[in-house]
Amino acid sequence: MDNPAIGVVGCAGRMGRMIAEMLRTRADCRLAGATERPGAEAVGQDLGTFLGGDALGLAIADDPGALFAAADVVVDFTAPVAAVWHAELAAQQGCALLIGTTGLQPDDLAKISTAAERTAILQAANTSLGVNLLLALVEQAAAKLPESYDIEVLEMHHRHKVDAPSGTALALGEAAARGRGIALEEQAAWARHGQTGARCIGDIGFAVLRGGDVAGDHSVIFAAEGERLELGHRASSRAVFVEGAVTAARWLAGKPAGLYSMRDVLGL
Ligand code: NAD
Repeated sequence: MDNPAIGVVGCAGRMGRMIAEMLRTRADCRLAGATERPGAEAVGQDLGTFLGGDALGLAIADDPGALFAAADVVVDFTAPVAAVWHAELAAQQGCALLIGTTGLQPDDLAKISTAAERTAILQAANTSLGVNLLLALVEQAAAKLPESYDIEVLEMHHRHKVDAPSGTALALGEAAARGRGIALEEQAAWARHGQTGARCIGDIGFAVLRGGDVAGDHSVIFAAEGERLELGHRASSRAVFVEGAVTAARWLAGKPAGLYSMRDVLGL
């Protein structure tokens, strides 16, 4: 689709704001408008001046109805409850939706999947090229290495992050489980404290660190007697997620109904 209109829900958030700023400068798409949660300071302000530039004549709304009716694609980096609501609105209006929000529970994912029967929805816990390649490498390593290689997933994020482990760490655990042909839920060791006993063979362990302004560090460690393989990714700036999200939103414009992932966008 030429020059699609792309809207941003949650435009005052760390990610939403950067995505709106990038959309504003792109020549191959248009910024269709933006929303924030009711009561947010940004509501009612002109979107252009809010972003630090010239007025665009588009007021930041707290009701997303008009945005979903006007946009070809909406980008959501908000919170799980809002993301599910936005998926339902997207399905009603036939507007495509990119969900970057993490912390989605199985019930949320089921609702998003149902909405994707009626419109194109792309759900990605991480929109960077490097992490999506890492997911493929982790699946491959887990498929090749025997169960005697203990798998541990380690992540660190900034102090404001509200969900744990990160959506990307969960996706890495899922990729490892897929490679091994097991169900993550049955083998995950989510946390360890006190007299835990010895590590169970076949477990996929998780460790979470929070602090400072870390944009996102992830490692997957395959540890055996005598050697350790580590696959990792460090995001030094959120710009990498923003770039990936805008590329994915552009790609999603005009796609038929269905649930897509970054693998589809990147051809991995
Ligand atoms: P943030 O808290 O800075 O921003 C979220 C924004 O959404 C806030 O401004 C909030 O007011 C707004 N919001 C909440 N409910 C809303 C609603 N109903 N309507 C409109 N706006 C609403 O958080 P952030 O750091 O920007 O992250 C947002 C989400 O994106 C988190 O789940 C985070 O984990 C995820 N994330 C994903 C990626 C990725 O690559 N997929 C990268 C970074 C962050």
